[in-house]
Amino acid sequence: MRLVFVGPPGSGKGTQAKKLAEKRGIPHISTGDILREAVKAGTPIGRKAAGIIAEGRLVPDDVMIGIIEERFAKGDCARGYILDGFPRTVPQAQALDTLTERMKVPVQAVLVIDCRDEIIVERITGRRSCEKCGTPYHVKFMPPKEPGVCDKDGGPLVQREDDQESRVRERLGGYHRQTAAIIPHYERRNLVRRIKGEAAPERVFAEIERALTALRI
Ligand code: AMP
Repeated sequence: MRLVFVGPPGSGKGTQAKKLAEKRGIPHISTGDILREAVKAGTPIGRKAAGIIAEGRLVPDDVMIGIIEERFAKGDCARGYILDGFPRTVPQAQALDTLTERMKVPVQAVLVIDCRDEIIVERITGRRSCEKCGTPYHVKFMPPKEPGVCDKDGGPLVQREDDQESRVRERLGGYHRQTAAIIPHYERRNLVRRIKGEAAPERVFAEIERALTALRI
């Protein structure tokens, strides 16, 4: 199974991609996760990317293509892969074509998880997590018993910098301006399947499985 997941931030694509990769026993390659690890580890790429991520902008294509080339070189992708968050621009999609052709592991399908902007803004800006233990909350969908306080250890609930509304709108703008442009790139090869991302996670997963069954993947 060789898939690309595309969708705006907050569409749930990361959750779905991770679940599917675990079920099928293939690598889940999330460029957002790779970058966040690089930031934590303080590598040269991490230092370069930290400010860009916090502002909700895109990391330059050459850096991202280098990251993916390095990841594919690990060899486990020969059995299959699920790409989550890459490609995000047309040059990245073109670079992925070259790489997967060279490795003889072409993309079989591109799943686009659709979700309206206003739903995304509500989902993301409401996210909080405990500063002490990391437990996730949502002010509306998964509120703590006492506002702003962790149920488990009383720690303060904090919001990620890039989850602030202005940053979310910036990320959504980037998605519509740049990432949505990769969809026609794959439509020309009839690889795109649209998934309705506003339903409950289990229903979205079931729709993904149905789409893959129809494709015999
Ligand atoms: P994500 O977890 O996929 O939402 O990614 C978090 C952040 O990492 C994004 O807002 C970008 O700043 C950066 N990022 C992740 N993947 C890419 C990519 N393919 N191209 C450029 N920037 C990326």
